[in-house]
Amino acid sequence: MGRSVLVTGGNRGIGLAIARAFAEQGDKVAVTHRGSGAPDGLFGVRCDVTDAASVDAAFAEVEDAHGPVEVLIANAGITDDTLLMRMDEEQFTRVIDANLTGAWRVTKRATRNMLKARFGRIVYISSVVGMLGSPGQVNYAASKSGMIGMARSIARELGGRNITANVVAPGFVATDMTEQLTEERRKQILASVPAGRYGSTDEIAAAVTFLASDAAAYITGAVLPVDGGLGMGH
Ligand code: NDP
Repeated sequence: MGRSVLVTGGNRGIGLAIARAFAEQGDKVAVTHRGSGAPDGLFGVRCDVTDAASVDAAFAEVEDAHGPVEVLIANAGITDDTLLMRMDEEQFTRVIDANLTGAWRVTKRATRNMLKARFGRIVYISSVVGMLGSPGQVNYAASKSGMIGMARSIARELGGRNITANVVAPGFVATDMTEQLTEERRKQILASVPAGRYGSTDEIAAAVTFLASDAAAYITGAVLPVDGGLGMGH
């Protein structure tokens, strides 16, 4: 333990639970934020993952404070839901840029030092909808399934350097993001969850810390659903 961990979007929601879980086990944790500051006890760096210069500056700050990032959690993400016929190109590319290209930007910056250190753990926060699809979320689902191809390619490229890349695919978790769904849509989703309840942010964090742990050193390119059975069958 005592590793340098960076969680993008670790200032709230699922990312914050992940950041706290790493901090509890004794790691040096940094979280990104876009102006809100970091919650108590966590080291915050301002970073917009859609901007490569901002990503670079954030990594430099983390490196100064905690040393090169050894564990990267690509969690930052947005939705911009609407049906395909109403979705304009800007809505599509904005979500891809934040969720998928953003994850690529931080991975590229992090792996520079991981390659030198011959150690790295990367975990992407995808979504059950990346595999299931979801009406009104063509942009979001595409960004989330894109993460799987990205993680698996990185697993193949960098596996020999003791760098793993895995994906956690959460189901429905109550956060600001899911707050935006209509009550009707929430009921619909819940009805198809075998566990019969929403997931908690801590349940997602537990899967992430496991994949970043020494116990998971031989797991790479895996997709670990934490979804109460919602996406079973993949
Ligand atoms: P929230 O909306 O609560 O938090 C989103 C986080 O992403 C915030 O920290 C936000 O930062 C950050 N973020 C968004 N855009 C950018 C950007 N351009 N640069 C840097 N940070 C950014 O979402 P959740 O906690 O619910 O979701 C976290 C991840 O989990 C997302 O990738 C989401 O897709 C995924 N997920 C969530 C599920 C759920 O049910 N909640 C289900 C499946 C997957 P800021 O505070 O600055 O806005």
